[in-house]
Amino acid sequence: MKERQSIFTRAVHAGERSAAPDFTPVSTPVHFSVGYIYQDMRDLDAIFGGQRAGYVYPRYGSPTVHAFEAAMAALEGAGDAVAFASGMGAVHAALLGGGVRAGTAVVAAADVYGATYALLERTMAELGVRTRFVDIADLDEVAAAVEEVQPAALLCEIISNPLMKVADVPALVEIAHQAGATLIVDNTFASPYLFCPLEHGADYVVHSATKYLAGHGDVMAGVVACSAERGLDLRERQKLLGANLGPQEAWLALRGLKTLPLRMRQHCVNAQAVAQWLAGQPAIARVNYPGLEAHPQHAVAQRLFGDRGSGGMLSFELAGAGQAEVFRFMEALELVLPATTLGDVYSLTLYPAHSSHRQVAPEVRAALGISEGLVRLSAGIEDAQDIIADLEQALARATSRQ
Ligand code: PLP
Repeated sequence: MKERQSIFTRAVHAGERSAAPDFTPVSTPVHFSVGYIYQDMRDLDAIFGGQRAGYVYPRYGSPTVHAFEAAMAALEGAGDAVAFASGMGAVHAALLGGGVRAGTAVVAAADVYGATYALLERTMAELGVRTRFVDIADLDEVAAAVEEVQPAALLCEIISNPLMKVADVPALVEIAHQAGATLIVDNTFASPYLFCPLEHGADYVVHSATKYLAGHGDVMAGVVACSAERGLDLRERQKLLGANLGPQEAWLALRGLKTLPLRMRQHCVNAQAVAQWLAGQPAIARVNYPGLEAHPQHAVAQRLFGDRGSGGMLSFELAGAGQAEVFRFMEALELVLPATTLGDVYSLTLYPAHSSHRQVAPEVRAALGISEGLVRLSAGIEDAQDIIADLEQALARATSRQ
């Protein structure tokens, strides 16, 4: 090779591919490369053939994403975890991994996240999958539906959105497995801080890591945790589906996990305080929070979550309100942000009827109990008294102008 290469060549290659370091970085670097070089071509061949671990192309796996996956597997007590570009990517993959095919059926909680509902109702239905939606808190109804339709999978959210029904996972495991169905639990609202469904027999745990796991409102990600065997199957599917998480997002999500328990503890304390305060306000017709004794699944929440808390999510109904009054209330908030997400360090509100459940027909929303006056609140990690003060002033302003 000539002594001094052209600046065109040097500009491309200079500084790259230094020898493997003899140190280990304390925190995981962001690996942006989409190619990986091995000295011996037989190593590459062995990786492609699945005989040894390694990286060949990021749709097949990549180092920073793998670090996040390994952390998630450890937190959920799983044999493996597979990351996706979003929570919806994770829900889709878990359904396929869970045996959902043309001609099979799914039994799902009627109040699952709006996009999950639409995925089942539209996309999966177009592919020949029938879904029976049930009240997941009514175990007799779930058991009857499972017996009747013999589903490939039973799908629920650990705490439902926006009514905060708590799924009795151990009971649902029994119902699903008796019928040979897989149980998929969307654990987004609880996070592994409150509950690990796999340890109670669930087959797949799904997360929108966009929420509590990453926690800072700056990354979209999803993850499925499951057994090592199911993980291998998911990885094969992901190579074809392609909804892979990028390295920057994986790094942010991994960083978020480090403070997950600290944040969750504060989210739970704040939500409990806010729920108790709201329950005493005459302008509030109803509060949905599993940490309140009046909540229908309060006992289930206590059994599953112990003394760790009841989550950071709650919803409440402004008495006699419709969209106009709810909008006035949300616009009057100064600290709590009206943003279409949840599980962030910031306190956030959302109007389910026009956002998360917009894709659900109004009559179905009404049947589910998602009224036009319902507001969802994701308690952040600020001081609870400051959140309450903001709700108080916004309620006063919204009601004084009625
Ligand atoms: N599951 C639940 C419970 C959610 O709330 C959401 C989104 O809000 C999703 C899944 C979808 O996640 P993503 O928006 O990351 O695709």
